[in-house]
Amino acid sequence: MSFSSQTKEELARVWPPHACCQRGELAGLVRGGSLELHGRGEAALLLTTEHLFVARKALHLGKSLGIQRPALTQRRNPRGEGRVYQLHLPVTAKMLVELGIIDEDGRIANTLPEHLTERGCARRAFLRGLFLASGSVNHPLRGHHLEMRLQNESLADAVSQLLFAAGIAARLAARRQSLLVYLKDADSIADFLNLIGAHQTLLEYENTRVLKEVKGRTNRLVNADQANLQKSVNASFRQLKDLRLIQETVGLASLGPGLREITRLRMTHPEASLAELGELCHPPLGKSGVNHRLRKLAALAARLRSAQEKKGDFPNK
Ligand SMILES: [Zn+2]
Repeated sequence: MSFSSQTKEELARVWPPHACCQRGELAGLVRGGSLELHGRGEAALLLTTEHLFVARKALHLGKSLGIQRPALTQRRNPRGEGRVYQLHLPVTAKMLVELGIIDEDGRIANTLPEHLTERGCARRAFLRGLFLASGSVNHPLRGHHLEMRLQNESLADAVSQLLFAAGIAARLAARRQSLLVYLKDADSIADFLNLIGAHQTLLEYENTRVLKEVKGRTNRLVNADQANLQKSVNASFRQLKDLRLIQETVGLASLGPGLREITRLRMTHPEASLAELGELCHPPLGKSGVNHRLRKLAALAARLRSAQEKKGDFPNK
């Protein structure tokens, strides 16, 4: 089962408690679905979906709102595998107004009526219905993407305003005959799943996301370790060059006992870290102490090198 289907299955089990949110969810389902109005004597809404549980939910919502004689039929999916389910809901003009499909004057409504969206529970239910009928969401491992494919621009605008009011910034894009309202970042998707009541899915989404981030961070740490290792190899190589220069010009005997000790240790342990070199000293020395001595030696080597460059002669040993 795809992540989208799994999400919708969870959402289909969420039952809105009041008439306001039942109406809101059914409105979302019919506006998000391939809405057809049949007007032979009596008006009817036709909802087509690939998910039986979505059709069943719309059927129960319709019954609960007093819609008489709903009919559910199924046939082979003409556009792919499996079946499609078609729900036929005979509706009165009053119900069409209540669902925000026509306005008070009997014209097809372009915007969402206020009575559908004034309460928070109804707004959330409307978005849930809309997602059930028209939405999809990627598994977080496949990249963050959630979309709803809507029939017209005014609906897409109204939906992005609803989302904006809930603190979710959606993007819009035109696709052939439809409009996409979509979310591209994990935070917005998590907020949306929470808003429409997909709490189980949200948990899985967040877990996967955290796991993915921890993995990413671990990989970055491993890479950083390798980079550090390379850095210390390069540093050791530079130190050995400096020490050889000192040895060949002024000689190690000219160094104080501390510098002489660290020089000898570095030359015999080129791979050792600063901390390891410190442990080999008598008495043991901290990392910063070792660093201090090595910096003194590097400065001495730099002075020797610049003196040689001035004279234009190089050690020929
Ligand atoms: Zn409600």
